[in-house]
Amino acid sequence: MIARFAALLATAAFLSIAVAQTPSPAAAPVSPAEAPLSAIPYTPSLDLNSLDRSADPCVDFYKYTCGGWMKHNPIPADQSSWSVYAKLANENSQFLWGILEEDAKLTNRTPTQQKIGDYYAACMDTSSIDRLGLAPVKPELDSIAAIQDRQGLAQFLRAGADQRGLYFFGAGAEQDPKNAESVIIGLRAGGLGLPDRDYYTKTDPKSEAVRQRYVAYLAQLLTLSGEPQPKADAEAAAAMRIETALAKASFTRVERRDPYKSYNPMTLGQTEALIPSVDLGAYLRTRQLSPASLEKINVSQPKFFAALETALANEPLDDLKAYLRAHALNNAAPTLSSDFEQAQFDFFSKDLRGVPQMQPRWKRCERQVDRNLGEALGQEFVARTFTADTKGQVLKMTEQIEAAMQDEIQHLDWMSDATKKQAILKLHAIRNKIGYPDKWRDYSSLTVSPADYFGNVERSHVFNEKRDWAKVGKPVDHGEWGMTPPTVNAYFNPQMNDINFPAGVLQPPLYDPKEDDAPNYGNTGGTIGHELTHGFDDEGRQFDAGGNLKDWWTPADAKGFEDRINCQRDQYAQYVVVDDIHINSKLTSGEDVADLGGTLLAYIAWKKQTAGENLQPKDGFTPDQRFFIGYAQWACENSRPENLRVTAITDPHSPGVARVNGIVSNLPQFAAAFGCKAGQPMVKTPMCKVW
Ligand SMILES: [Zn+2]
Repeated sequence: MIARFAALLATAAFLSIAVAQTPSPAAAPVSPAEAPLSAIPYTPSLDLNSLDRSADPCVDFYKYTCGGWMKHNPIPADQSSWSVYAKLANENSQFLWGILEEDAKLTNRTPTQQKIGDYYAACMDTSSIDRLGLAPVKPELDSIAAIQDRQGLAQFLRAGADQRGLYFFGAGAEQDPKNAESVIIGLRAGGLGLPDRDYYTKTDPKSEAVRQRYVAYLAQLLTLSGEPQPKADAEAAAAMRIETALAKASFTRVERRDPYKSYNPMTLGQTEALIPSVDLGAYLRTRQLSPASLEKINVSQPKFFAALETALANEPLDDLKAYLRAHALNNAAPTLSSDFEQAQFDFFSKDLRGVPQMQPRWKRCERQVDRNLGEALGQEFVARTFTADTKGQVLKMTEQIEAAMQDEIQHLDWMSDATKKQAILKLHAIRNKIGYPDKWRDYSSLTVSPADYFGNVERSHVFNEKRDWAKVGKPVDHGEWGMTPPTVNAYFNPQMNDINFPAGVLQPPLYDPKEDDAPNYGNTGGTIGHELTHGFDDEGRQFDAGGNLKDWWTPADAKGFEDRINCQRDQYAQYVVVDDIHINSKLTSGEDVADLGGTLLAYIAWKKQTAGENLQPKDGFTPDQRFFIGYAQWACENSRPENLRVTAITDPHSPGVARVNGIVSNLPQFAAAFGCKAGQPMVKTPMCKVW
């Protein structure tokens, strides 16, 4: 899944638990400004207040369009960064908060209202949660303590995996990369607590300091669970040693972008030979899978599993148990009493990302409901915020941008007819998904109690695991969404060959029905073009019209395309993220290409849509200037330096300043609109091109 925006995306499952929920007890008191919203406040998609007219648009267009926004929108104390997208997401949360408060109290509730209302109420009941303390995770710790030998360890890893997920690695359903209509079993690398494998391997003083503080955090969790400090210290160090061995054998993020590297189909027998210590056969046989399903298992990172086997077979059993204990506590921390939540916040948010203050409880609970009952809460959101009119308008814009793309492809002078034909086949096969799923997810088998928060979380996990495993061996559900409707983001999925725009991203100040076409095509049109271009970026282009990993390019065309991408990689490698850390443009390449290609497509579609109209200047800006300001203002942001150090390693998206200046400096249409001249910073020579 390749999204437009990163801040709201989960990365590794482990991290998503650690960071995304970052709850705490001593939550900030609700400030007067923070009350449930009965409507989402309106901000125009072209906001004159966000401009900084002291800047020269030909020198720094980002500062010109976003300087005012940056000044007026300091980062809230409970955030690691702040942006137009994050602000809207926060407003969506505040709006959903009101719905949840209401649904928690209503008497005559629909089944949907009961589930989301009770989930929220149980999460808000901090006095019950605090009273339980460590108790909810005690059975898990007891099971770990009871492990006597390596066989017992393998049995522990199998038993209860549905309730709390696997330790060390991940497993579940995935589309067969080479046969996208078929769902097979996938085994994935995992097991790390820090946000990326690089944290374990880098030798600079800052990285070494992070590692020390991470070990201290694990020790803190262990002492909170009742262990004496010296034992906790030794166990945390052992967990770190095991994680480091796994990290060294894990792909880098750049390696993970190569779909061929991650495609390693094996039979059950082969996976059992790769990692005998887990007894995968016994694990998979409990999941009601057909015998045929066991004959094709994709192992994304065989080298990782070899390293895991070495650890499981050779590390002292007590050290492996220490690792399990530390991870059991870290996984459970957001659902335990406040001291655990505080410890997790202090390390993952305060220390690692520079966030001064924990999010208020309501926000963490609203996020929980979105995570676990997203299509139930999403129904309520869509019913109140999303009109058929908006859906129709956005669909029309999408089709226009697809037509622009077809036209561009047909006129590429460097691409052969054979490759063009395949590219257009793929373009025509893309499914446009706008707003929300045609069919809502059925949560009826999930029991939600207003008085059992930990149980709700655990049952949700089981529900999701069952749902996931049930896909193996069945036809792919092309109606499924990977984001919930209130989400302020969008994505392209190369294996599904679909683009997805949740209702949450189709509101002002992004899609603005009150504005005319210029800023809307610049902003939402740019996002649509971005997602479509992902189908043809350095990663997406390796999948065909059916979503299969298959090379449909002639060698000369592939080289022609790579040359174009390299132009942008070289450009972006010059930009600094923070301190002396530059953009890792091999990691951000797909997103940068999507930004450049997408903006041009949106511009072309806008020109076509408004051809023959007598467009007039407005607020002192020409129509073309308004298109580009509308484009740039989606990307306004502020970020804490600590957070930038994390995203420089983990985020495949470039910072906002590069996403604006790096793009417009490659577009002659921009230079013409603002009268920028060769030699000025916003006029790159030579310009990079995707289309
Ligand atoms: Zn993207």
